[in-house]
Amino acid sequence: MDPNRNQPPQDNKPEDKRPKGNLWVALIVTVVLVLLISSVVNAVINSQYTKTTYSEFLAAMENNELAEVEIRADRIVYLTKEEAAKPAAEQRACFTGLHSSGGTLALANELDEMGVKVDYQIVEDNSGIVLILYYVLMIALIFGMMRMLTRRLSGDGLMGGFGSSKAKVYMEKRTGVTFRDVAGQDEAKESLLEIIDFLHNPQKYTDIGAKLPKGVLLVGSPGTGKTLLAKAVAGEANVPFFSISGSDFVEMFVGVGASRVRDLFEQAAKVAPCIIFIDEIDAVGRSRDARFGGNTEQEQTLNQLLGEIDGFDSSKGVVCLAATNRPEILDKALLRPGRFDRRIIVDRPNLQGRLDTLKVHTRKIRLAEDVDLRKIAQATAGAVGADLANLVNEAALRAVRKGRQTVNQEDLMVSFETVIAGTEKKNSVLTDTEKRLVAYHEVGHALVAALQKHAQPVSKITIVPHTTGSLGYTMQMPEEEKYLQTSEELMIELRTLVAGRAAEQVVFGVKTTGAANDIQRATALARNMIAQYGMNDKLGLMAPASVSNPYLESQSYMDCSQETAALVDRESQALLQSCYEEAKELLLSHRPLLDEIANFLLVKETITGDEFMAYVNAEAKQLPEGTEESDGQQVEG
Ligand code: ADP
Ligand code: ZN
Repeated sequence: MDPNRNQPPQDNKPEDKRPKGNLWVALIVTVVLVLLISSVVNAVINSQYTKTTYSEFLAAMENNELAEVEIRADRIVYLTKEEAAKPAAEQRACFTGLHSSGGTLALANELDEMGVKVDYQIVEDNSGIVLILYYVLMIALIFGMMRMLTRRLSGDGLMGGFGSSKAKVYMEKRTGVTFRDVAGQDEAKESLLEIIDFLHNPQKYTDIGAKLPKGVLLVGSPGTGKTLLAKAVAGEANVPFFSISGSDFVEMFVGVGASRVRDLFEQAAKVAPCIIFIDEIDAVGRSRDARFGGNTEQEQTLNQLLGEIDGFDSSKGVVCLAATNRPEILDKALLRPGRFDRRIIVDRPNLQGRLDTLKVHTRKIRLAEDVDLRKIAQATAGAVGADLANLVNEAALRAVRKGRQTVNQEDLMVSFETVIAGTEKKNSVLTDTEKRLVAYHEVGHALVAALQKHAQPVSKITIVPHTTGSLGYTMQMPEEEKYLQTSEELMIELRTLVAGRAAEQVVFGVKTTGAANDIQRATALARNMIAQYGMNDKLGLMAPASVSNPYLESQSYMDCSQETAALVDRESQALLQSCYEEAKELLLSHRPLLDEIANFLLVKETITGDEFMAYVNAEAKQLPEGTEESDGQQVEG
């Protein structure tokens, strides 16, 4: 097979995986072709002349029958007077071969004296070289043309490209990137530490019988540093780094993607331990559910990928990292245990994260005294790492344009405007009013969750715009894994979901689009409670909705009369409304607490669950004895 494969590929070079055997075939074909062509050409030329002998030529000369003579190094071509008399189209010249041009000059002079028209042109002795040169040139030309033709045909997978991988696999033996180059993202780094340790010393893990995850999914907005993190993992572990984009797998022709996947894993296995990084895995890992539009090629590629992931032995030290910003469309099979079962969120950086990112990128830049990176970090809420890297670079370019030796604060501020505010990121950098709204919305969720019994405690609240497009979010951490949920727990969840909107209403008296997702989820939950879980008194144990395919998480459909469907609608609405009122009441009764936490969040942008609970618990202590802080009906004094 490919002789290249046995050698470790060069750093940073895309690999040319064209088999070398083809080259020889092409060369032989070319030579045969050239010989064939030249013999055909000779035959055609010869057929126009009558071949004679030198004696016949001399005889014709003696008899004074010659009209025109052409003398060359290897031949004499002549026209008799008889032929010359005919019309030009019917004339037929004779020729006779010469093995040596010696003495032809005397012959030419003699013919000239006889009054014959003579053309004498002899290039001495190098006619052989000319001939060889002519052949070589021709071979080169045809060979080049053939190569171009086959490349064009196979290059885009039209021909011959089926089996051979042309995917752009980039391999770096040493990425040279370490965690020091990745600012912030501490949670992500922490989760990846184990993998690095494993790559350093797989033995330690296999001895005990532990299996490490084969796949880790990095989820986050574009530019948050997913690729950078993956490279840093390879750099820290000091192993080769293979990277490929998911879209490279997907081709028009069925089977091409699958063979590329096979190839990638084969290559990786040869240099294990190593890291395989698949960027934009959603291009290939999109759900096979028909709802998203099925596609045979993509399905086949995905199946191959699943097969390879199952097939490789993680104890050899191959770890597959994948990045996506659309985790929700990924196929469930891809996320199953044993595959990409670890998910690491790579968030947009908060204030501290942005400051650190700026510091990382200004390490090699000469800064003026007046530079205050913290100010820049404060101004760039919502910006991702890539934006900040770009900002710093723009500032440096501006300094050069202005003919300065160092980058000053003004450069940074001006490039902030062009990079962040000037681009489409405009809408993800929040105005002050928006920030306040988002802060109250999120604290509303968190507070209502905390104030109710059994509610999951929040682990983090942030108003840094988030990957899924929401402007902030409240992360809840389940204390224990729950398989069963009581109706009361579901009610608590409902109240928590609508609490964002409730806070907007209670504090600002406005309704924003920010609650759209909450409302959708609340509606779906309320409908399920009524139409599937039998939690409504009027419907009793009847389940008018059925789930068509539980494995694909497709939507349920209503299997009932129109009246029942209408009843489900009415009941869902009533349930949502009552939960909404209860949430509002809860917030109203804890208004000072709400204000306090929201203001704290506005300053810090991200607060932890502990910081949040400290406020809640502090308030609970101030309450008179005997009152339960979680009682929704109780009004504070
Ligand atoms: P993604 O893969 O998430 O789209 P990248 O990893 O390609 O993003 O990031 C693009 C660039 O942005 C990086 O090369 C780096 O210069 C910069 N960058 C992003 N995040 C960070 C970070 N946390 N620390 C330092 N630089 C970052
Ligand atoms: Zn919300």
